[in-house]
Amino acid sequence: MEKFKPFEKKIWLSSPTMHGDEQKWVNDAFEKNWITTAGENINELEKQVADYAGVKYAVALSCGTAALHLSVKLAGEKLYGQAKPNQGTLQGHRVFCSDMTFDATVNPVAYEDGEAVFIDTEPDTWNMCPKALEKAFELYPDVKLVVVAHLYGIPGKIDEIRAVCEKHGALIVEDAAESFGATYKGKQTGGFGDYAAISFNGNKIITGSSGGMFLTDSKDDADKVRKWSTQSREAAPWYQHEEIGYNYRMSNIIAGVVRGQMPYLDEHIAQKKAIYERYKEGFKGLPVTMNPFDANTSVPNYWLSCMLIDRDAMCEQVRGENKPLYVREAGKTCPTEILETLAKYNAEGRPIWKPMHMQPIYRMNPFITANGNGRGQSNAYIDRGAVCDVGADLFERGLCLPSDNKMTPEEQDVIIEIIRSCFE
Ligand SMILES: *Cc1c(COP(=O)(O)O)cnc(C)c1O
Repeated sequence: MEKFKPFEKKIWLSSPTMHGDEQKWVNDAFEKNWITTAGENINELEKQVADYAGVKYAVALSCGTAALHLSVKLAGEKLYGQAKPNQGTLQGHRVFCSDMTFDATVNPVAYEDGEAVFIDTEPDTWNMCPKALEKAFELYPDVKLVVVAHLYGIPGKIDEIRAVCEKHGALIVEDAAESFGATYKGKQTGGFGDYAAISFNGNKIITGSSGGMFLTDSKDDADKVRKWSTQSREAAPWYQHEEIGYNYRMSNIIAGVVRGQMPYLDEHIAQKKAIYERYKEGFKGLPVTMNPFDANTSVPNYWLSCMLIDRDAMCEQVRGENKPLYVREAGKTCPTEILETLAKYNAEGRPIWKPMHMQPIYRMNPFITANGNGRGQSNAYIDRGAVCDVGADLFERGLCLPSDNKMTPEEQDVIIEIIRSCFE
């Protein structure tokens, strides 16, 4: 007999939560007929986001990826000069990038003709490892750009990473797409990089269905990004172009949705925090840990709750290119078994983001770990008790839990029981 009943309404990983104000600002755009990539919603949202993030300027764009692309392009232009119209600004230059992230963090390096070098992850916050970054500068001392993400809403080791970058004179692009509202030493993420991006994609902490924001303290950079994002039109009576342009500006309709979400950002964070803490409490006694953070420096936005299964409690699990298999074993489990069990009961989890160095598209790119090792480790590799490829290890043993802020405590308790049953 089945122990649980499937949820009647699906429990999502992280779905949009609307409040009503969004519709009001969308209607406002309709009434004023600003159905375009300009208007009051955009102007107001840029002000509010800049205020909240503690930066001087925010430029509203079509998505977080666009904000990252223009950040990387700006950095490339600053470092290596203006490129020809048919060339990227990075032209074969290497760029150090977070390895444990969504591919939108690193793809812009390729858009600009650079080569991503992936930096392994540290186990304390699941973000870029400062030691591996230092190792990478020993191997590639010419590198001048670092692209760093804050995974799942937990700030990385910002001070350590900035110290390494300053020592080597490198610029930082900060991908705060997942961490809007998270702080490090009292300051908002998105305010640490030379250039930074946030995202309003449908599953983020607040959303416009899509949308993103470029953040900076430099008026020149903000103006440049605004110009590039609107096809690089020069001030002339006709369409005049001196530079390559993009159609990356945010729509005033989308801006209305995000504008309506802004007052609820703190509420969403509080809900996500409660979910994280309920899991933590509910998993007591199980051989698992939650995605960790340093409470002395960081206040996460708790966007996604994740768990990591102790190595001793892992049953055998093999992942091919597109399909996983596992062997059921009493007292043990694996992410595949838990995810399949959750799906059976109509709840959505997800594997940990598969590290970039394990992605077929980036299999030729260098990968640097804290001990200077890199390639040649397709699975988590243990060297005298210390994990060398931290990213592969987290991918193997970790998973993202249903983290939707509309999930009730009662529903979450059932999810916890379902997960507990996998260890039986
Ligand atoms: C969502 C996300 C992005 C991309 O944002 P979009 O708005 O979807 O383009 C970039 N980086 C990370 C880490 C993300 O999670």
